[in-house]
Amino acid sequence: MQGRASTGACAGRGTATPGSADNPLRVAVIGSGPSGFYTSEALLRAPLYTEVDMFERLPVPYGLVRSGVAPDHPKLKQVIEVFAKIAASPDFNFFGNVTVGRDVTVETLQDCYHALIFACGAETNRELGIPGEDLPGSYTATEFVGWYNGHPEYRDKSFDLSHPVAVVIGQGNVAADVSRILAKPCGDLERTDIAHHALDALRKSNITDIYVVGRRGPAQAKFTAKELREFSELKYCRPVVRPQELLLNAESQVELADKSNLGSRKVYELFQNFSTLPPCRGVRKRVHFAFLKGPVELCGAYKVQGVKLEINTLTGPPFRQSAVGTGKFIEIEAGIVFRSVGYRGVPISGLPFDRHQGIIPNTDGRIIDMQGKPLPGLYVSGWIKRGPTGIIGTNRSDSVATVTSVLDDLPELSTRGHKPGTSALTKHLDRAGLRYVNFSDWHEIDRSEVERGTAVGKPREKYTRIDEMLRLLNRPGNSGKRFVRVKVR
Ligand code: NAP
Repeated sequence: MQGRASTGACAGRGTATPGSADNPLRVAVIGSGPSGFYTSEALLRAPLYTEVDMFERLPVPYGLVRSGVAPDHPKLKQVIEVFAKIAASPDFNFFGNVTVGRDVTVETLQDCYHALIFACGAETNRELGIPGEDLPGSYTATEFVGWYNGHPEYRDKSFDLSHPVAVVIGQGNVAADVSRILAKPCGDLERTDIAHHALDALRKSNITDIYVVGRRGPAQAKFTAKELREFSELKYCRPVVRPQELLLNAESQVELADKSNLGSRKVYELFQNFSTLPPCRGVRKRVHFAFLKGPVELCGAYKVQGVKLEINTLTGPPFRQSAVGTGKFIEIEAGIVFRSVGYRGVPISGLPFDRHQGIIPNTDGRIIDMQGKPLPGLYVSGWIKRGPTGIIGTNRSDSVATVTSVLDDLPELSTRGHKPGTSALTKHLDRAGLRYVNFSDWHEIDRSEVERGTAVGKPREKYTRIDEMLRLLNRPGNSGKRFVRVKVR
């Protein structure tokens, strides 16, 4: 990080353009996942005086890196080291256990900061809109991923893994994560940071066959090759593809021949490899990839007993092909279904929301009203800005683009008057009696989780309840770190 000397001066009260030593640009970043941290990094690197306060509804940071990235993908979590360096900046504060829209309103934040940047991701899932979707035994990938990753909101969910067949609807990387966790031997999961309640349940799982179903063809599957390849590396497990499912129409052949589509070509080649794997002894589980099958109903009287799928065909030009039903149907008998058809953002009280796309409407990161007019001082970055696409690193350029908009708007932001920043916000939270969590507190939780993990041979054993985390922080020995340290300038 670039770093910048602290000023030691008090914040000015004038309406001069923010960003000077006596009138730093004060920004609230809402959300502590990749887009929140990359946004903070871009702000702190800007050639002006900036203070960043980050708000997170959980007492712990890192969003989907902590509670979305699969436990058997530790390398993807190494980005946390980069985020921790950003958090170490003297111009950065973390306010965990604070829900914006409930504990503090958008209006209060606007009174305290020149700009608010919402980087709160896409917290919920898209719906299929088919009969039976709400039957017991039908779950969203979001719930399952949150559960095995120990997210407090999902830790008390239970999943009936007693039937030998599971169906995963969708063919993106989240579907790959869900299927792999179901297929992987528990011996290979027990040295990861998977939540212990999930590991206990997976140990008792009877699932032997996992069907991963795509509504379009193998050329349109959204897996990345790296994630798909892992299915051929799983112990006691076989990826299965029927060769006749790999036949391509002319448009799909054009797609795969296109130079820009190397990733899909690699994915298709992996499916070809899977379809020619010779029989093998010792296989206990199979992951079946099925294409051109759209879910039309989850069947069952009181709980899921199967999935009815319509055989699809593709229509439209290359790269814009969509699935249409043929009127022919098949049914897969199954005891559990995971709907992994993409995430969706949720509305925030006081902000506009595009229900169709599940994002906050914006132009270049500037939140806009129904008439398309930018709302001064309000911005978005990450999934809530562009929708749930891309890998962790994609959020970096996205966040830099939003911060560029903020910096371009500096003269406009100066008209929003004096913004007291951290000190006023802290007073507000104290008056509300809120137990907010700072980054030293997080280090305390982190240390304790790593210690608990070491004791059982795991990299960490996460706390999965908010009250457990707060109890740890409120232990007598930790009382000195109770409140956020407000920077003295
Ligand atoms: P995704 O990549 O958008 O995949 C969603 C899947 O659901 C697609 O196959 C889509 O098919 C299907 N789908 C959507 N609506 C459907 C419907 N009504 N009926 C049947 N199928 C439907 O989303 P994701 O898997 O949730 O992943 C989100 C993002 O996170 C992606 O960018 C992903 O790469 C990333 N991610 C990365 C990793 C990693 O790097 N290891 C891990 C997890 C997630 P269509 O194509 O036909 O719409």
